[in-house]
Formats: sequence, C-alpha cells, structure tokens
Amino acid sequence: NHLDRIAEVDDRVHAFLQVDTEGALAEAAASDERRAAGRPLSALDGVPIAVKDVLATRGLPTTCGSKILEGWVPPYDATVVRKLREAGLPILGKTNMDEFAMGSSTEHSAYGPTHNPWDLDRIPGGSGGGSAAAVASYEAPLALGTDTGGSIRQPGAVTGTVGVKPTYGGVSRYGLVALANSLDQVGPVTRTVEDAALLHELIGGHDPLDSTSIDAPVGDLVGAVRAGQSGDLSGVRIGVVKELGGEGYQPGVLARFQESVDLMVGAGAEVVEVSCPSFVHALATYYLILPAEASSNLAKFDAMRYGLRVVPEGSPSAEEVMRATRDAGFGDEVKRRIILGTYALSSGYYDAYYGQAQKVRTLITRDFDAAFGQADVLVSPTAPTTAFKLGEKLDDPLAMYLNDLATIPANLAGVPGISVPSGLADEDGLPAGVQVLAPALADDRVYRVGAALE
Ligand code: GLN
Repeated sequence: NHLDRIAEVDDRVHAFLQVDTEGALAEAAASDERRAAGRPLSALDGVPIAVKDVLATRGLPTTCGSKILEGWVPPYDATVVRKLREAGLPILGKTNMDEFAMGSSTEHSAYGPTHNPWDLDRIPGGSGGGSAAAVASYEAPLALGTDTGGSIRQPGAVTGTVGVKPTYGGVSRYGLVALANSLDQVGPVTRTVEDAALLHELIGGHDPLDSTSIDAPVGDLVGAVRAGQSGDLSGVRIGVVKELGGEGYQPGVLARFQESVDLMVGAGAEVVEVSCPSFVHALATYYLILPAEASSNLAKFDAMRYGLRVVPEGSPSAEEVMRATRDAGFGDEVKRRIILGTYALSSGYYDAYYGQAQKVRTLITRDFDAAFGQADVLVSPTAPTTAFKLGEKLDDPLAMYLNDLATIPANLAGVPGISVPSGLADEDGLPAGVQVLAPALADDRVYRVGAALE
C-alpha cells in the first residue's frame, strides 16, 4: 500500500531520492512468513520505514543530497539501519534532504526540492524535509531523520508530524555521514508520539562502533507515552522559555503555542517562566561551530575515495582533480560553510571565533542546567513560522538560518527534544509545532509531555 501511495503522489511531493521496491517487498514477505509461522516478532515487524539519505545503507545508493556522492553505494549499514533490518522493518527507500543536511527547506538538495504535502508550493522544512513529507503524505508510516540544529523537529513542525531529537549519544551515529559530529543525532519522524517511542526504543542504545555513544539503557519510552496519554501532568513543572517566543514569531504560531501551554495547565502541570539569556547567542555560536566541524568532515570528499571524480583536460595534478571535483560536486550552501569553517579555524582567528563560540556553548549549557533546576521540561514553539513558499528565502542565508532559532540550543547542549503538532495557524491554515525539551538522558519526559499534548 505504501509503495502504491509513493507511486501515486511522489512525482509531486518528491520525498524520495530512491525507492527500493524489490527490497521492501522481500522484507515484507519475510515478515509475513515469520507471522504465519508463529515466530517471534519485533514491536515494529513488517512496518515499512523511509530513511534519510545521509545514513549508509548497504547496497542502496547514499547521496546526502549531493552530486559529489552520486552513485556511491555504501558497503555497510549504519548501526540504526542494521537495527531496522534485524527488527524486520522493510526499508521503502531513501529520502530527500538539503545537501549534507545544511538547510531548513530541502531546497539545497542537488536533486531538486521536496514539496510540503499541505501545500505543494511550500517548503517541507529541512534538512530532513523528505522524511517529514513522506510521513505527512502517508507514503511511509515511519521515517528516520537526523537533527544537528533542528532538521528533525523543524520539518516535523511545518508538516504536522512528530519529530524527536534524542539525547546526544543516545542513538548511534555510526554510518551517519557527519555534518557536525558534536551536534548530530539520529531520531524518529512519525505521525504519533507513540510511534516515535517505539522507533526510538528500537534504534537507541549503546554502540561500541560510536565513541560518543552513551552506555546507558534507552529507558521505557513507550511507558512514558502511556503516562502522558492518561492526560494527567500533575506534579510536572513546565518552563516556558522567555527568549524563545515573541518578536520574530508568527502570531498564529504563538497562539497555538499558548493553547498548548493552557492544555498542560489543564492537565495539572505547573507552568513557570524561565529565562535563558545566552540563547540569544545560540544561532551565532552554532554558525561558527557547525561550519568548523563540517569543513573538516567534508575534506574527505577529495575525488579519490568516493563518488564523483572530475578530471580536467590535459595532465592535471591531484590538486587540480580535487579542485574541479569539489567545484562541480558541492552546491553553494556547502561551499559557503566550508569557507566559513576554514576561516573560523584558521590560525590567528581560531581563538576569536571558534574558541569564543565554544565558551558561549558552555554558557548555553549552563542556562539549561539552571532552567532545569526550576522546571522538569522546557517548552517553546518549534519554529518561528509555518511553512514558507519555495524560493522565498533561498537567496537570503540569514533568513534561512533564523528558522532554527528555537531548535539549535538543544543541539549545542546535547539535550533531547520533541516537536508535536500544536494545530493550524489562523493566518494560513498551515501546521505549527510545540517543542518540549528535557535534561540529557531524560528522554522519557519529552515523550510523557509530548503524548499529553497530542
Ligand atoms: N537548518 C540547520 C542548518 O542548516 C540545521 C540542519 C540540521 O539539523 N541538519 O544547519
């Protein structure tokens, strides 16, 4: 049914870069056989899933939305992909994304943008717009995304789906093509909070292949959803972050957010206002740390090891092949960030930019620590606006970056967050999202409160 749905709508939505019809049908048949034979089934056995094209899939091309990786077929599976296969989830295909996960609209994909199923002239968010659109359009019931500064949560908000960024280190990054290693997290993209918990329990947990993986159990996330579904939040202290709202936020988004807060009060939660003064510097901090890490990560695309190789005429040197390949293979946004990152890391500027950003990152983490002393979870609108029109912000990088104002602090501090639909904005009838953040390793709290908000 999902493959039929993809065939029916994906020429308009363009959520997928790659559909693996044969592989998905074979896996579904294997699951049916297990069921018929009465063999043990995993919680999501036979449930199809779409995978963001930044995760390595053995035998299936993995492009990261970039021309430089066109035609690259990984010889191994990412740990999360291996877990999906072991649990019997048919992989429908690979989803579209901004090139190397840089962007908030999927317009930076080298393979053309994804369209928001709510309005095909609008963006589905990014960078994981393909995963969110696949789930929102009923092409897939589940998807995997990655969130470095909001790429799971912001697409969730603007497509009316649920997205979770787990605690940093809670889900293995092995086989995830790194954008910024200290910020990246793999997580679920689903239509319900319960589905997200089921998927999170499946993909989470320690992985010896990822040196930043936390050696702690995932916890009872489905149990936390059950607690939230009871509609009782008594004893829970909710902190409304003063700095994540107000100016720059669309009135309809703020109105839906206020309703979410009222709903929590109605469920018995205690609501307090908290202040995180350093959050106003989060965007600037992120756009030094991220390009620094990204420029270093992207150095491996040297025309020798993977994918594309452009050989200029004559007898070019290795450097000339590298330059021609990187010039043709990377898009403008990727080049912009490589330049920013190498500049920020260069000798003489390192302390002024990268070093300074690391200090502010610590201040942001301290703001979280202080806020979590006053509240069990923090809440805000997930994104400042609903989905904007395709092309609207493409030539204005700063306007594009501002979409992640509310999501970036969580990545800088490594804390978990969920985005849950909060309703449709009055101005445009488009979905808005509410974000719930919790301390590191307290992912269960975002599920409990998230489920109560559904
Ligand atoms: N939009 C943000 C960026 O462009 C976040 C990306 C992400 O989370 N991968 O960096």
